[in-house]
Amino acid sequence: MGRLSGFRVTLAQVFKPKVTEHYPKEKRPKPERFHGRHVLNRYEDGMEKCIGCELCAGVCPAKCIYVRGADNPPDAPVSPGERYGFVYEINYLRCIHCDLCVEACPTEAITESKLFEFSFTNREDAIYTRDELLVDDEGRARRQPWELWHGGEDDRTSAWMRATAPSGSAEFEGRVSWSGELGFGVRLGEKGQSEESSP
Ligand code: SF4
Ligand code: SF4
Repeated sequence: MGRLSGFRVTLAQVFKPKVTEHYPKEKRPKPERFHGRHVLNRYEDGMEKCIGCELCAGVCPAKCIYVRGADNPPDAPVSPGERYGFVYEINYLRCIHCDLCVEACPTEAITESKLFEFSFTNREDAIYTRDELLVDDEGRARRQPWELWHGGEDDRTSAWMRATAPSGSAEFEGRVSWSGELGFGVRLGEKGQSEESSP
């Protein structure tokens, strides 16, 4: 009798909705502000947004960013500023994805995608270089062989932080301001932000 009632409990569970998912075949959509693998963004004309100011490296609590700025070559500038990020590295063995680097960046150059499924078999792969972090000519993250990307994980990587970024000029502080971004154009404000608050 006891055995039968136990079986009834098991049977009842079979017809209840499943709470588990068939990961990694099925995945939940990531929250809009998910903090994943970084990208270095470019303007719509292809110029790099990073100006090599090192603020991201200075604020990083894990000390995992290494930046070296260099003067832009006058005949072939890399960024619209005086300087650009000549060397840029992030050590993902140390990064805690706190996003402080994104907050600190005055040009919206460094932002985070929604990719978190990347594993390495050596330390060299774990240290992402500028060439690996910089978005491609479509404005998309350059996918590395050890990364498992899914659709949409490099969409809207930087939209969330722009309300807090002064876009490099004090007159933009506290205003909703969006710089054009390669592959995405100029984005609309987020929910709760009004166009009236734009400069
Ligand atoms: S997310 Fe945080 S820990 Fe990672 S590189 Fe940026 S500041 Fe450093
Ligand atoms: S990513 Fe931003 S904060 Fe970091 S060096 Fe480049 S411009 Fe400065």
